[in-house]
Amino acid sequence: MTNLPRIAVYAGHGGSDPGAVSGGLREKDLNLAVSNAVTAILRGWGYTVLNNRTTDVDRNITTDANTANQNRVDALVEIHQNSNSGTPGTGTEAFVSIRDTGRARALANAILNRIAALGFRNRGVKTQLNAQGQDAFGILRQTNMPAVLLECAFINNPSDMARFDVNTMAQAIADGIREVYPITSGGDGMPPYPGTPIRVGDRGESVMQIQRCLNRVAQRHPSIQRLTEDGIFGPRTRDAVIAFQNIFGLTPDGVIGPLTWARLLQECPAGGGGDGGGGSSGPMPSFPGVNLQVGSRGESVRQVQHCLNHVSQPCSRQLREDGVFGPLTQAAVITFQRIYELTPDGVVGPRSWARLAQECGRGAQVAAFAHESGEVLPCFACDGSAGDGNSIDMVAREDGNANGLLLQFLLMNKLFTR
Ligand SMILES: [Zn+2]
Repeated sequence: MTNLPRIAVYAGHGGSDPGAVSGGLREKDLNLAVSNAVTAILRGWGYTVLNNRTTDVDRNITTDANTANQNRVDALVEIHQNSNSGTPGTGTEAFVSIRDTGRARALANAILNRIAALGFRNRGVKTQLNAQGQDAFGILRQTNMPAVLLECAFINNPSDMARFDVNTMAQAIADGIREVYPITSGGDGMPPYPGTPIRVGDRGESVMQIQRCLNRVAQRHPSIQRLTEDGIFGPRTRDAVIAFQNIFGLTPDGVIGPLTWARLLQECPAGGGGDGGGGSSGPMPSFPGVNLQVGSRGESVRQVQHCLNHVSQPCSRQLREDGVFGPLTQAAVITFQRIYELTPDGVVGPRSWARLAQECGRGAQVAAFAHESGEVLPCFACDGSAGDGNSIDMVAREDGNANGLLLQFLLMNKLFTR
């Protein structure tokens, strides 16, 4: 079976706390940009990623630490930028807990080595204690998994900032995480993403895996033409990749990058399976071809409702999976779109569908992640906290009146402003 590690990627500071500020740059913004980019890369590879924030909001270190503990993530990386007074320092460094048994240090070194390869001075892995002899950084003191507090570079050093690029920094961090927490796979499905895009002219086992998977998907999607599984990436393979990308709402460039690979992995999981049409808790089928919106009905709507409920599993209140796209389903879709930075129009088009499929297609992984926590995964259709004193039905109905709907909305919004 494929082992997909769970990683907490946290952004330091946020909201009313800008962190270090220098030369018009705010630490909280750089931290967030890097955190979001690392998250995208890891998710593209198939990792389950936990964030503390994905927008510019306040964070609470104790809450964030508890969340990571409750979810039993395999490792945690919190992104910061360094700053000092006097002559600006330079380079990258990381802090780990004094309780670390070696894994956090290994992770920190893997990341620092890759950042150093970008030209930053490697200042090494450190510990920092408070007056009580405990870790000075709360996120290291209050978590119990290997955790790294990363100071990417000095925000007050113009040459560090000239070298600083969000995407290359994020790639270095993601590569370091992958080195120490690799995806291990078995079976006859897709292996982990090889690390570089695969395109016309490439040859080998990875290309053969892609062709094999595309042929399996083609059984359900005739717009993908059948390929000879010869391990040679030619124009026909490219056209099949483009057809695949169009079906699943990916950029149709004919190149297999991490996102397209992750989708192939989802369609042809390691260890077999993947040909089914989606059981009651199985992965979403492919986009039905027409946008789903208020007034839509049918099995595709039921799949959307099921997935939204699946993603908001810890909630006591769930959408009724009745296949009727009403205002509550619309509200839940809008919330989902906001969180995943899609256009929040309440319409499930190819992109929203692909994102829902991505979140629900990991099936057991996502479910397990949600079950252990009770508070981490977004609760789209509910207030998520029992005994909140409100009196909305446990199952939200599409025929709810306008006030009930507004209350639902407010309750949902409340969950994302922490
Ligand atoms: Zn900081």
